[in-house]
Amino acid sequence: EDDLCDALARLDKDHRRLRRTLESERRQGSFARDLAEALDIADTETEVFSIAARAASLQMAGADFFLVTTRDGDLSWEVATEAPACECKTARTCPALRKSRTLRFTPDSGLARCARLIDTDSHAICSPVGAGGTTLAVAQASWTGPDRPELQLSIETLAAALGARLGVVRTLEEREVQAQTDPLTGLPNRRAMQAMGEELGETGDTFAVIACDLDHFKQLNDTWGHEVGDQCLKAFAQVLRDVCRTSDLPCRPGGEEFTVVLPMASAMNAMVVAERIRVRLRDASARLGRPFTVSMGVAGREHGSDFDDVLSLADKALYQAKGDGRDRVHLHDSVVLDEDDIAA
Ligand code: GH3
Ligand code: MG
Ligand code: MG
Repeated sequence: EDDLCDALARLDKDHRRLRRTLESERRQGSFARDLAEALDIADTETEVFSIAARAASLQMAGADFFLVTTRDGDLSWEVATEAPACECKTARTCPALRKSRTLRFTPDSGLARCARLIDTDSHAICSPVGAGGTTLAVAQASWTGPDRPELQLSIETLAAALGARLGVVRTLEEREVQAQTDPLTGLPNRRAMQAMGEELGETGDTFAVIACDLDHFKQLNDTWGHEVGDQCLKAFAQVLRDVCRTSDLPCRPGGEEFTVVLPMASAMNAMVVAERIRVRLRDASARLGRPFTVSMGVAGREHGSDFDDVLSLADKALYQAKGDGRDRVHLHDSVVLDEDDIAA
């Protein structure tokens, strides 16, 4: 009778454990499905991060959640419900990323505890988030009080779903950047210029445009060859980068034609920038041993109603610069300079 009672008690205990496991697996399964469905419609990293934060607060109540992304080896804290739980700054210094597996730390992990965790009495689980063999981020949960080993499965489920979606979103974003970049010079192409121009046009803010066309470029190609021509195009792109402010947008819409869009600038401001470009190119092309020049036309929002309008006025001014002998900057005709402009 005693043996039978013992056996029944053991059976009951096993049964309860099994039910708890099944219940937890059912919850994890439904969490994973809901998460995948929510992430499916996230098109940007920001949307992925906000879904990650919501999912963590639902699934891991009472624990702080952090999502730290890696780009070129640097870590960036994208989601943090609290002040960061660790002091890692680069992917190289994160043990979970270096070992490419989930690591769990308790207050008594001793020497095995990650030295970069800030609190010594906290629990932490760090799980790498990856896609196709590339690590994209680390998901981290941290809390104080009793151990909660079940959170490992939650954070791993979260990490797997986030990895899959972040991979897709990053590929889409990279493709978009590629589609907007000129491969020779690395400058934004016509599509990017048009998109920014339309945005500026909609804001109603002031802006100016410099239209640039390299002089006698066909002759330059014929004399020195197409490869040297390409080098000259790259050198001009570098001159534009050197002269422009970070808010300006130098672009290569095509061929030996370039455009600089200057947000919050008047045509007179742009004239000063254009003149700097002209002078800087003279020095840079001389250093290259292939002297060449550029003609430019300038117009601003004060002359046109929208971006296309201003761009076409800058183009007309450019052709006047060509007609006047090249290697010069021409301001759109209708500008009347006042005393202040001339003094400036
Ligand atoms: P202008 O002073 O009147 O502007 O004369 P131009 O010779 O620069 O103008 P044209 O439009 O006759 O010729 C433009 C030349 O630019 C012809 C073309 O071979 C060259 N070009 C366009 N794109 C590239 C490129 O990607 N690489 C090289 N090397 N040359 C290019
Ligand atoms: Mg041309
Ligand atoms: Mg030309």
